[in-house]
Amino acid sequence: MIELTKLGAEGLRLEGQEARLPLEGQDALREIRWQLFALPSGSDVFLEVRGEAIWECACSRCLEPFEQHLEISSQFLGSKDADLVARGSHALGTQDLDVVFLPEQEIDELALVREQFMLNVPMHPVCKDECQGLCPRCGKNWNKGRCTCPPESHTEPSALAKALSGLKLNLES
Ligand SMILES: [Zn+2]
Ligand SMILES: [Zn+2]
Repeated sequence: MIELTKLGAEGLRLEGQEARLPLEGQDALREIRWQLFALPSGSDVFLEVRGEAIWECACSRCLEPFEQHLEISSQFLGSKDADLVARGSHALGTQDLDVVFLPEQEIDELALVREQFMLNVPMHPVCKDECQGLCPRCGKNWNKGRCTCPPESHTEPSALAKALSGLKLNLES
């Protein structure tokens, strides 16, 4: 726990390692290394969280589990001043910092690190750029071969599409 009321003017540096931290759903972080810096700024506190980990997640296209290396680095201002939080950002020196509501007198450093990772994981992770995803009809993983469903593009062209292709031919002739 970091006791904010007891922070010295020089701030506090912490670092640590965790073997594994569960995230939401099936996701988890593994081999986490993190550093945290807390520096008092008036009644607020400047916080910097850096870290790296292996992220165990599932592909948003084919749903297969995979893992990727993640690095995070975030700086923000923790404040119990509701007005400051409502404004959303605060200039500190040359930096424009996001302001996060932090009403507690103490911070659980590991919860903060976990939260920062969660805010920084990609929304739609993809196992590989060329991932084919799942068949929308039968759900087969197309990375493991095609299914026998008729491809979506083989549906009848609409009347408009026919009219447009006719128009194009006319223009070319
Ligand atoms: Zn995939
Ligand atoms: Zn299919």
